[in-house]
Amino acid sequence: EPLERLCVHESIDEKVPIDSFIDALNDLPVPVEVIGDDDPELDETDAVASYRPREWFPDAGWVHCLRAGYDEFDTDAYESTGTPLTNSTGIHGTTVGELVASYMLMFARRMHVYRDQQNQRQWYDPPYEQPFTVAGETVCVVGLGTIGRGVAEYADGMGMDVIGVRRSDEDVRHVSTIYSPADLDEAIDEARFVVAAVPKTPETEGMFSTAEFEQMRDDAYLINVARGPVVDQHALVDALEDDVIAGAGLDVFETEPLPESSPLWDFEEVIISPHEGSTTNRYHHDLAELVEEIFDQYQSGNPLRNRVA
Ligand code: NDP
Repeated sequence: EPLERLCVHESIDEKVPIDSFIDALNDLPVPVEVIGDDDPELDETDAVASYRPREWFPDAGWVHCLRAGYDEFDTDAYESTGTPLTNSTGIHGTTVGELVASYMLMFARRMHVYRDQQNQRQWYDPPYEQPFTVAGETVCVVGLGTIGRGVAEYADGMGMDVIGVRRSDEDVRHVSTIYSPADLDEAIDEARFVVAAVPKTPETEGMFSTAEFEQMRDDAYLINVARGPVVDQHALVDALEDDVIAGAGLDVFETEPLPESSPLWDFEEVIISPHEGSTTNRYHHDLAELVEEIFDQYQSGNPLRNRVA
């Protein structure tokens, strides 16, 4: 059955102004309607685009998750109804790549400390041994999909040696050595920066914990732009307190928003960004373009890009 309308669930408003997103869908050949939680009447002629999952979405003909990480969506439910579920991977290489580049540059060039000092109107001399350059340092990118490749491209451009971890072993541009997840210890051993860019799956949950922090250099920084649970947050706090690693750049957390009581707020060598890695003022265009592309594929009976269930 062809799709007759696209229902945009109001949860997208968490990331993108819903009106901008709908305006950007101007090439879609069917009406677009906003849906909330009070009107869940869907059938196979409906498409749904949503930031958050709802149990009644699998009644639709096609459901699109407006995020790359679809870990909150119950893929089994889609497989049992046969409703295709697609995600939004493929569009975050630049945004999250730049975020990771900024963490690395901030730590190396001490920008986070200078800004803290600026807030006190302080002209400040850092200890001589602290500033360094990212050029010549090694970054280990764990997860070499859209985001990992974006990170690798920026890091290579900044003169870094880029190594990485993924399950499959094909070459990846800008990455000099690829390790399998079984050799994670070896991969992170010599890196100055370790970047988590994997999806949250049963295999990646708790991937970075006490043993990995001990394996890392004591002047290494962990950067997590994946999902909070990929890092054992208690173990991370312990490792930071005991100077097992130097610091962390964190965009994602076990609980979001990060509670005010979290000890992570207090470390000078922790930079916290509020899960805004993907955000840009043109994100609505990127998402809309992807939705329109997959919509066309569905209508013409072709395989769907980014199908995950
Ligand atoms: P992709 O699907 O493009 O890439 C995921 C990569 O992870 C693949 O290269 C895959 O390669 C690899 N991978 C999967 N499992 C493992 C494993 N066990 N060990 C090592 N590598 C693994 O996704 P994106 O790059 O678009 O996004 C990645 C994740 O980042 C998302 O799932 C989401 O959780 C998070 N994200 C965060 C954002 C933010 O704002 N901070 C924004 C967007 C996404 P292979 O199959 O070879 O293992």
